This record gives sequence, C-alpha cells and structure tokens, in this order.
Amino acid sequence: MSGKGLLDAIAAEVLVCVKCELWKTRKNAVPGEGSPNSKIMFIGEAPGYWEDVEGKPFVGAAGKFLDTLLAEIGFMRDNVFICNVLKCRPPKNRKPSPQEIQTCTPYLDRQINAIKPGFIVTVGNYSTAYIFSKANLSFSSITQAHGKFYETSILDMPTTVFPTFHPAAALYSAKYKKELIDDFQSLGRELAKKGHR
Ligand code: URA
Ligand code: SF4
Repeated sequence: MSGKGLLDAIAAEVLVCVKCELWKTRKNAVPGEGSPNSKIMFIGEAPGYWEDVEGKPFVGAAGKFLDTLLAEIGFMRDNVFICNVLKCRPPKNRKPSPQEIQTCTPYLDRQINAIKPGFIVTVGNYSTAYIFSKANLSFSSITQAHGKFYETSILDMPTTVFPTFHPAAALYSAKYKKELIDDFQSLGRELAKKGHR
C-alpha cells in the first residue's frame, strides 16, 4: 500500500478507537495530517481543546505559533506531517498517562513507518521521551536535549531526531519563545543543507 493508503487506514482506525478511556471524553480523535511524502514529521503531545473540537492537530494558540515557526523556515503545514503521541484529548488537558502512551503509540509507530521521514521533530517532553526511547537514546529533559540533531535509527529506519520545546511553552515564557525560534533557525539551516527545502 502507498504511504497515503497506509495513513488513511491508520486515521480511519483512530477515529473509532476505544482502546483507552480517552475515547469516552473526546469530541473527535485527532490522527494527524499532512503530506504522506513529507521528509519531516512533527510530533506533539496530545490534542487540546481546539484540536478535539476540530479533529485536527495544532489548530489552537500553540498551533498558530507552530505555523509561524514553520513559515519562518519556508514550510507550510501541507509540506510536513503533524501529529501527536496521543490521538485523543486528555480531560482538562492533563498530562498523558504511561498507560495511555503505551496503548496509543502503536498508531504513531505505524505513521512513522508509513512516512519514513528523514527528520522527526519532537516538540516537548512527551514526544521527545517516547522517540528517544525508540532510538535507545537516554533522555533527561527537553532543556538538555533540545536544539541538537541526533542521527539515529527508529523502527529499523535511519532518521534524524531534532527535539525542541513545545510551542505552548512560548506562549507563557519569552525565554522558551526565543529558544524555539533559535531551534527552528538551526532546523531550517540543516534541512536546506540536506536539500529538503
Ligand atoms: N499541543 C499538542 O501537543 N498537540 C496539539 O495538537 C495541540 C497542542
Ligand atoms: Fe485510542 Fe489513542 Fe484515542 Fe486512546 S488516545 S482511544 S488509544 S486513539
């Protein structure tokens, strides 16, 4: 099956998934969206209020900032693939539980396999911790890990992981906002070097 066929099949399963308790409180599951041929995948934490309402990833305030960061390095949403570790919103935006992560991440793994991205950008602690564990990299904190390129292998596939802060952090901290802007500048330069833009 093509990358698009696989992604559509995964999304169809996610939309009706009842594997963890989060299905009971969701309005809409949020499988993720973007180009199946994308060389870059962005992975966040979990849908928030607006993502749950619209069924799309990163459409609230943090998402608007992510759009700005992408535009700064010459990308639009349609050129990349954006998704989350969890596909359904935890009530009141509480943190994902280890159990929910374990139950939901087979979908994420299948999305990674379908896209085979050259770059995986993890935004925030949860996606970075998950992807680092898949890559057998040790993770202490996003503050330590962010802004560097990790050439590694995930699910038997070579890829480069680039962790950065969650764009939501930029909405309350000027320091994180600056770090995010700087990280995206590094990302843009590296992607240009590799011929991805
Ligand atoms: N925060 C996330 O981690 N993901 C979204 O889709 C929206 C906000
Ligand atoms: Fe299924 Fe994941 Fe939603 Fe839980 S969060 S119901 S595992 S799609």
